[in-house]
Amino acid sequence: IHAQHYTRYTESATILQRALKVIPGAANSWTRWTDIPISPARAQGARLWDVDGREYLDFHGAFSAIVLGHAYPDVAQALTDQAHGLVLAGIGRTPAEVELAERLVRHIPSAEQALLAPSGSDATYSALRLARAVTRRDCIVKFAGSFHGPHDYALRSANDAGEGGTVGPDGVLSAAARTVITCEYNDLEAVADLFARRGEEIAAAIVEPIAFNASLHPEPGFLDGLRKLTTEHGALLIFDEVITGFRLGLGGAQAQFGITPDLTTLGKALGNGVPVAALVGPERHMSRFGTTPHGTVPYSGTHNGNGLAVAAANATLGVMEREPVHEHLARLGDRMRAGLREIAQDCDVPAVVTGSASIYNLLFTDTPPRTFADILSVDESLFLAYRNEMVRRGILEMPLPLMRAQVTYSHTDADVDRALETAQVALRAARDQ
Ligand code: PMP
Repeated sequence: IHAQHYTRYTESATILQRALKVIPGAANSWTRWTDIPISPARAQGARLWDVDGREYLDFHGAFSAIVLGHAYPDVAQALTDQAHGLVLAGIGRTPAEVELAERLVRHIPSAEQALLAPSGSDATYSALRLARAVTRRDCIVKFAGSFHGPHDYALRSANDAGEGGTVGPDGVLSAAARTVITCEYNDLEAVADLFARRGEEIAAAIVEPIAFNASLHPEPGFLDGLRKLTTEHGALLIFDEVITGFRLGLGGAQAQFGITPDLTTLGKALGNGVPVAALVGPERHMSRFGTTPHGTVPYSGTHNGNGLAVAAANATLGVMEREPVHEHLARLGDRMRAGLREIAQDCDVPAVVTGSASIYNLLFTDTPPRTFADILSVDESLFLAYRNEMVRRGILEMPLPLMRAQVTYSHTDADVDRALETAQVALRAARDQ
């Protein structure tokens, strides 16, 4: 660590030093590293404080998991009540589990039944397994730059577009990696060509309907085309709505685009930061899971439907059902996107602003990116320099290559004003470095 960090971030740096001894890389997930050492201590609403008492306006949102804001009162109260009531029984089903499943079925257009999981990765893992069981095929189509969890069955490295890519990162079962075929997002022709050649092998296409992990939006016809191709070739279409679900609106991207996937995975915003995820779909598929008497597809988990997770999800969805959460998110998101466009112009930096609803991103490129190959040509070093300038000035956005930022329901117009004022200064500083 640079010496100046020891003086400015004394306690954070001390914790980092302790962590380096006992946590590999000092982080519990591979994308938590920041340029300056930050050890978060607490958070409230749109604000987060580190152990040195430094305040950040939080537009990181824990990788899009925080949607209402930190320690949101309804969620905090539900968690406290549940902690004193029932955390986990591991038998039968609680009324709250049924209530949550009823909510998911009511809100998500393609859902007839729902199963809970502790993480988005668990949900995509089971969705892919179910697709293989339904179709009796092994291969999965995914899209370059999309992320569905680090398990063997959806992970290909980000830049291995096409079928000729290397098998996978260390430790990934090569036999599993060979079943994952990566296409370019928005390249429907390539998908059609693939299905024409290998349709008999393909169990499912899994897609982020808006590829927020790659800062890409679907071109008109792309998602419709995927729906048609998968149906024609007897494969399932899986919408991975772990980011889009409950963030765009209660019905997710499928409601927005009017497209009905076969299976849908949900997570992140569902629990407003508490680990809870779901897999939803029609009864004819979902009933194959081993939770039913004749189900043959393995499905279990000690923490599936954990009391705290379910309480957080019911409280989060309750707020969204009662209050204009998504209107607020969209309005502030629009303000952020418009403001960033102006700032980039003002600073004479070629830029494209992507995102929708609460999510926004400022990409330093001349032309709106269509595919992940386009994203890879964005000026990443300027992006990282800009993000680090933002973080240094107390605006927390992911200081990671080309990753999205977002507002929550707790952010105010004044917070957006402050973020935009800071963006102006940060972009000038990054540009002039
Ligand atoms: N799908 C998508 C679209 C995601 O963005 C992520 C996480 N970034 C996952 C799945 C995996 O979810 P989790 O981290 O909760 O396992």
